[in-house]
Parts: sequence; structure tokens; C-alpha cells
Amino acid sequence: MNKRAWLLLGVTITLIFLTFLAFMRVGIPKPRRQPAHPDVVVTIFPVYDIARQIAGDKFEVGLLLPAGASPHTYEPAPSDAKAIADSSMVLAVGGQIDNWVMSLTDESQVTMLDKYVTKLPASEENEEGVTYDPHYWLSTDNALAIGRQITEEFSQLDPKNSDYYFEQYEFFRSEILALQKSMQSATNSLSNRKIATFHNAWQYFAVENNLEIVAVFEEFPGKAPTPLYLANFIDTIKAQLPGAVFTEPQFSDRQLNTLRQAADVNIGILDPIGGLPGRESYQQLMLYNVNELVAKLNHE
Ligand SMILES: [Zn+2]
Repeated sequence: MNKRAWLLLGVTITLIFLTFLAFMRVGIPKPRRQPAHPDVVVTIFPVYDIARQIAGDKFEVGLLLPAGASPHTYEPAPSDAKAIADSSMVLAVGGQIDNWVMSLTDESQVTMLDKYVTKLPASEENEEGVTYDPHYWLSTDNALAIGRQITEEFSQLDPKNSDYYFEQYEFFRSEILALQKSMQSATNSLSNRKIATFHNAWQYFAVENNLEIVAVFEEFPGKAPTPLYLANFIDTIKAQLPGAVFTEPQFSDRQLNTLRQAADVNIGILDPIGGLPGRESYQQLMLYNVNELVAKLNHE
């Protein structure tokens, strides 16, 4: 085998080992059924899972957005209003990711986590009125900031168990630091760092992994691109030659057929939300994404 083949084998073995570790670690809770009367309700899976890891066995945590759905197109169900009415606290992302939660309760019950994270400016394609890119949980540094703030919120809600929440946070933090190391070593050797994504969700992930997003398939999340926009997208793919185009499990990729016919490019799946098999914790979700990234970018 040549040097590059050995390198790829090394990276593959490392990723398999890391995936194995992610499943074996005792700190990652197994997925469980939604509680009937949650103490804390969270809008989207990645934040829900972080809250669940900090809460341990002290709070029942409930999730609003079902697995496989996109927050951009979600319409709340009557059961969501009921879950919120029964709970003490609602955790939300903000920035038009989960504004629908505001129709279910009043502001005083909701903690918007966007106040506590590092934000990147919104791209021009974002919906009107949003000044920052709301997909901030896809940065692992922001996952730490989210976890830290949730720890503070839980300590205020339940002061007698404050030490417990901080211990849970420390464990979460050690896992995220280990995850960051693995992500770094997995992406260090990438030769092509250009990618195209399905919707404008991946800026934070690109910054942390030193990637360049050369094109975005959907101008507005959940809306099919116009023929002109699609033609520009395909031209950009042909000119920039990204290592791969990534779809997302929350959206149909039927429209990508035009691209498949027009350009010879690897197509993979990056998942911004998770909650599906193999992506049942925040850590597993990010590990899945980096695995998929490396596999598709290193595929000749
Ligand atoms: Zn999005």
C-alpha cells in the first residue's frame, strides 16, 4: 500500500475505535421514551440531549421536535402545548430556528440559549430579521457554553442539587474535549476541504473543522430552489470541485437528481439535528458528522 492508503486506513481505524468508544461510554444516556409530564421541555434534539445529560436522574426532560423533522418547517402539535404547560422550564435555541415555541407559552417560561454562545453572522440567504446564523449548536465549543448555561438554569430551579448538576457538566465537558481531539485528528489529513451543503446550517461546523463551504443547495431552508438558483449551484460545483455535496436527513434529496445527472460529485449526508439511530446523543451526532465528512471527502 502507498502512504496515502496507509493514512486512510489509520484514519478509518481511529474513527471505528472512536465510534465504538462513543457507544460504550457510560455517561451517554440511552434513548428513552418521552416522559408524560416533563419537568423541562426542549425544542430540538441536540440541546435536549445536552439538557438530559446535565439533568441525569433529577429531572425528566422532554423533546418537542420529533426525530427526522426539520425545525424550519415544523408546526407544533397540541401535545406540545400540553407538555409545556406541565413543565417548569422551556429551553429554546432562538434565531428563528424554533420561534414556533413562542406561540405555545409566554416569554417568561422560555430560556433562549442564544444569549450565551459565540455566534457567527447570518449569511445573506437567511430569513429576514435574523442577524446571526442560528445553527450555533454545531460548534462543540458552543455545546460547552450551552451545557454550562443549562447547568446554571438547573441549579437555580433546584438549588439543593446544584453540586450534582455541576458534576454532570464536568463529565459532559470531559467528553466534549475528547470529542474535539478526535475530530481534529480525523480532519487533519483531509486534502480537499471544500464542501457543498444542503441548507445554510454548517458555518459553525466548517469553522471548527477548517472547511470551506463553496455552495448551498437550498436558498431558503425547506423550500425547493428555483431553476435559476439550481443552475448557479451546479455551475459552482463544476467550477469549485468540492470533495462532496452533503444532503440532510430532514429534507428530501429528490431534487438532487438534477445535480447527479449534471456533475460527477460524491454525495453524503450530514445531520444537523440527530435523534435517529446511531445519533442518539450530541456526542454521537457530531462523531457521525465528522465520520461522514472524512469518508466522503477521502473517497476518490
Ligand atoms: Zn437550519
